[in-house]
Amino acid sequence: MIYFDHNATTPLDPRVLEGMMPWLRDYYGNPSALCRMGRLARAALDRARDQVARLVAVSPEQVVFTSGATEASNLALEAAAARYASAGLWVGGTEHPSVDAPVTRLSKERAWPLWRLPTTNAGGHRLASFPKAEDPVIAALMLANNETGVIEDPLPLALEVRRGGGFLHVDAVQAAGKIPLVFEATGAHTLALSAHKIGGPKGVGALIVESGLDLRPLCIGGGQERGLRAGTEPVAQIVGFGLAAELALQELAARAALTLALRQRLEAGLDRISGAVIYARAAPRLPNTTLFSLSGWEGETAVMALDRAGFCVSSGSACASGGHAPSPVLLAMGIPPDEARRAIRVSVGWANSAAEVDALLEALTAMSMTGP
Ligand code: PLP
Repeated sequence: MIYFDHNATTPLDPRVLEGMMPWLRDYYGNPSALCRMGRLARAALDRARDQVARLVAVSPEQVVFTSGATEASNLALEAAAARYASAGLWVGGTEHPSVDAPVTRLSKERAWPLWRLPTTNAGGHRLASFPKAEDPVIAALMLANNETGVIEDPLPLALEVRRGGGFLHVDAVQAAGKIPLVFEATGAHTLALSAHKIGGPKGVGALIVESGLDLRPLCIGGGQERGLRAGTEPVAQIVGFGLAAELALQELAARAALTLALRQRLEAGLDRISGAVIYARAAPRLPNTTLFSLSGWEGETAVMALDRAGFCVSSGSACASGGHAPSPVLLAMGIPPDEARRAIRVSVGWANSAAEVDALLEALTAMSMTGP
């Protein structure tokens, strides 16, 4: 099986697994314990916090470990909501459900107005003109989109939101490890990260918090993570996240160059397939991501055909009760539903090869000729 679904999750880097093993097998102390085993675990957490902090250029005190980016975004948005008696909600039109769902729930439960930032045909957002807001605004915008790979600069939004005393949360899950990432340059109050998209383990992520910002925790209890996320820390997972973050930073340029060369090879091949359309091509994109469609093929059907041929890719849609739902991201970009059902996402990793891309292109060419 050739794996081309790295935006869904990445394989665990063998170097990360090796670094985690002692913390799974030998060093089982509770980081809150005073005994030697506890102190060793605490030191491992401190090291990992430092490694994650360096990935986004913050100080270690700004890193709050969570069970993943979903929890980090939920924590940020609930904590933001607790700061205001009344607020407007502004959210990107192509956000991941881990951001869109909590914002939508806040809007329903508190009757706060929700405004989705208009998405352009290129897959970005219009970040120049904002509606007049009477209340402070809680805003959320992703740095890079998981389906199209479109990269955005949230700073204009951050400046507007801060002018009115509001709050900005940024989902940087797909950007981390693929493009340079400096927390302060985003203008955000909080930023979500996930380990399993950068060669780390699943079930661990982090919320990066602006220095000095006081947030209301979701999970209270033992006071871990400076009171922001109670619960005994999963030391091995966090150690793995730290290592993955360190490697991602060290190897960022090399990984980006490798994946970009593969993406360009793939897209040059797609250009030779009649009826293939590549989306968001004109926008700045992650080096590893191509969202496209093949004429006549629904995304889900194409994914299953490719699976049988030995390739792991993804469709831009979720399979909804018997039918194939169109990609919400393509719909937001103004692509008609029939076409948005055809989205296929290839997200390459640094361990993929040109020969693997060529094999995929061969399969896609054959599919485009035979039809489903
Ligand atoms: N945000 C984006 C853009 C994602 O692609 C994902 C992963 O699917 C998440 C958030 C959720 O991350 P996690 O699996 O760590 O909760």
